[in-house]
Amino acid sequence: MKAFQYVRANTAKSALEALVKDPSAQFIAGGTNLVDLMKRGVTAPDKLIDISRLPLNRIEKEATGVRIGAMALNSQVADDKLILDKWPLLAQALNAGASAQLRNKATVGGNMLQRTRCGYFYDTEMPCNKRQPGTGCGAKEGYNRMHAIFGTSEHCIAVHPSDMCVALVALDATVVVQGPKGERTIPFTEFHRLPGDRPEKDNTLEKDELIVAVTLPDSPYTQHAHYLKVRDRASYAFALVSVAAALELEGKTIKSARLAMGGVAHKPWRLQEVEKALVGKTVSEATFQQAAQQAMAGARAYEYNAFKLKLAPNTIVEALKMAAGLTA
Ligand code: SF4
Repeated sequence: MKAFQYVRANTAKSALEALVKDPSAQFIAGGTNLVDLMKRGVTAPDKLIDISRLPLNRIEKEATGVRIGAMALNSQVADDKLILDKWPLLAQALNAGASAQLRNKATVGGNMLQRTRCGYFYDTEMPCNKRQPGTGCGAKEGYNRMHAIFGTSEHCIAVHPSDMCVALVALDATVVVQGPKGERTIPFTEFHRLPGDRPEKDNTLEKDELIVAVTLPDSPYTQHAHYLKVRDRASYAFALVSVAAALELEGKTIKSARLAMGGVAHKPWRLQEVEKALVGKTVSEATFQQAAQQAMAGARAYEYNAFKLKLAPNTIVEALKMAAGLTA
């Protein structure tokens, strides 16, 4: 690993000033992904600015929702009573991610910024447009079992690896970022991006900005919500497909719905058209089968991930059934 300088920031302002002074520097918080990337030579910053002690780890109830500091640990959010009571979908998704040890180190901001786990991205001998733009995509004609079925481009077919972000996009989260010009907010649906012809860019954060918080509006999805993750082993594995499903019910009628998928696209894949179509329908296996079919419009598989074309709709149906209480 290349030698690097290490500095610690105590305020968001000083962290941003240090970054502006040295644009080649990178922030580090929990380091659960960045250190791996540095060890493998995927990234080699000259300087790390440690932001893990910034006073941004509080989970605070606000008038119309909750504000979660970017430095809050994944385990802290998953165990928080307010989150468990009001946004259980988020707690479920967090607990489905990584291992207990990693959740005790990883921060909310870092979880959002983690890089894809595409094997070609991590192997510096292989072509990868995300790691080194213009070199090609090793996965397209390679072993692409974990890769995307929605929103791909000829330049990249990687998926975003987070579970937490699938729940956040379903729950209408907003990202609060701070930069030289002050604070701005980004709807979660617009935070991560599709690869297009710039696969090296995972999100819409500017180079001189810092994530300071995520906010969630008050949610009617406290009773009928389920995060279902299908993976190769029971823990510490990335999703083949995951689904965040939440229903607001009046008797057996769906008043509103939230639905998003993970493991299928370069960004957490929100299904707003399917949500709209579910409104007014009666809770049943047939309703959910129809929703799953609609969700798969436009899906495209590669040589080794065609199984996702079947797994994804099955997972949607199962997650919706669990959210509705049709399946234990
Ligand atoms: Fe790189 Fe994306 Fe292709 Fe993977 S899928 S090799 S990350 S360009």
